Amino acid sequence: NEANEAQQAVEKDRRYLWHNILPYSKNHKPMIGVKGSGSWVTDMEGNRYLDAMSGMWCVNAGYGRLELAQAAYEQLAELSYFPLTQSHLPAIRLAEKLNEWLEGEYVIFFSNSGSEANEAAFKISRQYQQQIGQHHRYKFISRYRGYHGSSLGALSATGQAQRKYKYEPLGSGFLHVRPPDGYRRPAGLSLTAFNEQCAQAIEDTIIWEGAETVAAVIMEPVITGGGIIVPEPVYVEMVRDICTRHGVLLIIDEVICGFGRSGRKFGHQNFGIKPDMVTMAKGLTSGYLPLSATAVRKDIYDAFKDEDLYGHFRHVNTFGGNPAACALALRNLEIMEQEQLVERSRVLGERLMAGLAGLAEHPLVGDIRGFGFMAGIELVEDKASKQPAPLAVMTEMISRCKKAGLIIGKNGDTVAGYNNVLTLAPPLSSTDEDLEFILTTLTKVMQEYT
Ligand code: PLP
Repeated sequence: NEANEAQQAVEKDRRYLWHNILPYSKNHKPMIGVKGSGSWVTDMEGNRYLDAMSGMWCVNAGYGRLELAQAAYEQLAELSYFPLTQSHLPAIRLAEKLNEWLEGEYVIFFSNSGSEANEAAFKISRQYQQQIGQHHRYKFISRYRGYHGSSLGALSATGQAQRKYKYEPLGSGFLHVRPPDGYRRPAGLSLTAFNEQCAQAIEDTIIWEGAETVAAVIMEPVITGGGIIVPEPVYVEMVRDICTRHGVLLIIDEVICGFGRSGRKFGHQNFGIKPDMVTMAKGLTSGYLPLSATAVRKDIYDAFKDEDLYGHFRHVNTFGGNPAACALALRNLEIMEQEQLVERSRVLGERLMAGLAGLAEHPLVGDIRGFGFMAGIELVEDKASKQPAPLAVMTEMISRCKKAGLIIGKNGDTVAGYNNVLTLAPPLSSTDEDLEFILTTLTKVMQEYT
């Protein structure tokens, strides 16, 4: 019977599967998902949950879309694999479509994951700088609390101690600066002045390191996994200007912010800046298949057009740009356009923030932050000292939500001493009723927690 099968699967899971990131717990009972539809997932025991984290911030168009399965199926039947040392139509079409979404002239390099997209961006940055005669530019600057991936280069750029400290020393030449975490700014400083100071810290680092040694800055438009840290527009504008003035490339990591999550097609479009490179993954296929991309400004690509054997990009990725993944991604973007999911994200995000506003009075809530259709609720032990709430409170809150049928996330950094931001990033296709369910469930759970 069903309960028996579920029990056996749990036992086999414990024996054979090594899970992502979770600390080991002898009695951990994994949720074994078996079906998804819209914003809802069902586990092996038949329980239904609203997935307010879209898996890992990726199921932007929602679960269970047969059209996406069909697009992949048809492409697999027609041409299941072809390398991008050659070419194929789904990759060409998708690259063209991404250019349209990016509103600029970019050349696209495909990989499979966000980490790989960032690795490609780092390698392109270093080689590009060499090829324009800037031989000493090898360093990268990123922000503390930002996450850029699990591979050694992307992890080096990551600014979260908990993800890194067991694997150090990591790549050399990766420097970090303070993020514009307005909630924790020094007392007496205005939010705008603080944002300006944080941007200035990037310029100071470039100057102190010697501008001729810095290859690129990498940042998310809004720090997502690090706790929804939203900059003021002046910060992003200043960083763009600083990079331009110092010959430093600006890589914008849109792995989470891209594909409508921010209320625009890409997060940086909220700030009116043009990045030199854009990396993307997750929402590109709404998580249905692995695919990522590094979009490179056309004139940077032009520096690799050297026809002798020295100028080309020496990077190969067997599975990057798989034809079925590209065909599926293209269909995913068409669905997002047809159903106006980017606009929907903006509307839902505004309603989400309005609905969460009532929680501000809760004794544990220090700050509520949102951007597009995502939100972070920073929990503190004490509103005046802003002492982060302990991990146990976070875990309990998440577990109570789960019991009530709602999956939410948590982000922060256990090693650096804060792990205290509850996160929400539901599918952009969520219905009005879905949003209502999220708000009523979360509010009830939080109000009952004392
Ligand atoms: N960049 C950001 C901002 C991310 O949030 C992530 C993953 O969560 C990555 C990069 C790495 O993506 P992946 O896990 O697909 O390698």
